[in-house]
Amino acid sequence: MVMHPDPMPNERPMCNEKPSLVSGLVDVGIHLKLSEISFNLAEEALKSGEVPVGCVMVRIKSPSKLVLCDKDYEIISQGRNRVNASKNPTRHAEMECIDRILNWSKEQGITDLKEIWSSLIVYVTVEPCIMCARALRSLGISKVFYGCPNERFGGCSSVMNVHNDNSISDPIIDCFPGALNKSQAIDLLKKFYMGENPNAPEPKVKKKRLVE
Ligand SMILES: [Zn+2]
Repeated sequence: MVMHPDPMPNERPMCNEKPSLVSGLVDVGIHLKLSEISFNLAEEALKSGEVPVGCVMVRIKSPSKLVLCDKDYEIISQGRNRVNASKNPTRHAEMECIDRILNWSKEQGITDLKEIWSSLIVYVTVEPCIMCARALRSLGISKVFYGCPNERFGGCSSVMNVHNDNSISDPIIDCFPGALNKSQAIDLLKKFYMGENPNAPEPKVKKKRLVE
């Protein structure tokens, strides 16, 4: 007789079960999986000598706009900081993701991306900077889940309110600070800025501001 193992404790619930939702939008099991992918990307950035930020862009496919099970979403882009390697200060994790979606849409023959951008949830380990927040808003991305605040450059309220400033005519972004593990995101930044990485700049200013 074949014994069937018990379900894994982290197995995601079926769609017909009553889900526990993060930010009223995403099943908690799926959320943890997406968070983990984002943090893995941030770790990869750290190992490569980049500021450790990872980003995953998730397309919501369900008519209810809720992510309750696997068929409700699709990861269409993943990225992490590549500023140092590319010698290009705009190569933030979010920008890398945006570029990948543009390439992906070309391959798919999709010319009107409006529906794609508006159906995304952005998972990013650190609050988007002013530049990225403006880009995300300009594209019509409406939901950003992030971990820790970006005290120096944050565009979702830490420095500027790019996400909801009403002088900008694009649709506002709902930012969800702390939706990803804040302390995990801060720990990664600390590792980078406090000298565990040889490519890190001098920590004298950043140390004060980034460490809580
Ligand atoms: Zn940025």
